[in-house]
Amino acid sequence: MFKTYEAMMGILTDQMCAILGEHGIGFKKDGVEKNLDCYGKNKASLLDLLRKHPKWNDDVLGIVFEAGGIRQRNQTKIDSLRIELEAIANEVFEKNAAKHVGYDVSEFIHALCILCNENPFISGSSTVDHVGKLTDVDCEIGERTSRVIDKLCKAYDIDKHADYIAVFAPLADALNPISISHKAVLSLHPCDFLRMSAGDGWDSHFRLGTHDNRGNLIAGTLGYMNDAVSMVFYTVEETAKTPYYEAHKANSQIFSYSNGALHQSRLYPNYTDEAAQTIYRNIVQNVIAECLGEPNLWRLLKPGYANDAIFKTDYPLYQCDDYADKKYGARSSLLKTKHPKGFLGAQQRFVIGNVAYCVRCGNKIIDKHRLHCNACVGRS
Ligand SMILES: [Zn+2]
Repeated sequence: MFKTYEAMMGILTDQMCAILGEHGIGFKKDGVEKNLDCYGKNKASLLDLLRKHPKWNDDVLGIVFEAGGIRQRNQTKIDSLRIELEAIANEVFEKNAAKHVGYDVSEFIHALCILCNENPFISGSSTVDHVGKLTDVDCEIGERTSRVIDKLCKAYDIDKHADYIAVFAPLADALNPISISHKAVLSLHPCDFLRMSAGDGWDSHFRLGTHDNRGNLIAGTLGYMNDAVSMVFYTVEETAKTPYYEAHKANSQIFSYSNGALHQSRLYPNYTDEAAQTIYRNIVQNVIAECLGEPNLWRLLKPGYANDAIFKTDYPLYQCDDYADKKYGARSSLLKTKHPKGFLGAQQRFVIGNVAYCVRCGNKIIDKHRLHCNACVGRS
């Protein structure tokens, strides 16, 4: 835990200077501090939010998830939530008896029971048959079980009950266990932005590299670091030790969050790895919901909708288009309790990326290829 904000900034300055030095990038303390000053001001609310998470680690400036089961299936918890949902169903059926003539709550409960003993995804045709016969609700093999339960509850107006979300959200979580083979870190550490493309066998156009082998978008590392919304999510070997920003990353991607809207940017090294994308998104959604104290219920927006609906691109992120959803499989989601209608007002859209400052003199960087302003290029 940092004693003061100044103490934190002092340590971060030293750590950033060390990284720049390692990569042979000329810097002066003033230039580094100019960026950190911007980072500290802009990231303050996101830092405050993530600090509420029980796994927050102030030395790492992030949340560390050990490899293995992040959320394991707990049938006792599932059963107790199912019983709470049954009580709600009983109330709603009684109230709506006239509306749902011919429907029997015991059939609904029977179907709910079957679903609460299913895998996270519907796995057998007997479940499909039973649920269909008992309730008229169609489901199919491979469909997410929690989604079928939600559909079932909507069919009988159970979702209209005031306590529905409070019971359904944890039930959906419990039915959807998360496990990862690597250690994962959700970080706001400045050095993680600098080294976000230090991959295990891969790199990207953000790489700091060496003198004649720099990425052509390295200004973007500071651009993400200095904005108010972006976080780095990455996975490393299970045995990796702190500082994690030194470790080579198996996967890495930027998430950006503001006001109930989450944007998941291009996954490195492989943006077509849908399975990894889904797991990482679930982890980050879960973290945000937990920090906000809101039910973990999100609406995933269709590709092609996100770019216009979630954030503005009128501020340059040094021409990086990793957040383009159609091109790189980026996805956006909205927290249902904050955005029940499933869209953002224009004034709620947020900006990903910010100005980066020269790490020598602190002037604005114009050229995306560098961490220096034009005047400092070539200076030692
Ligand atoms: Zn300069």
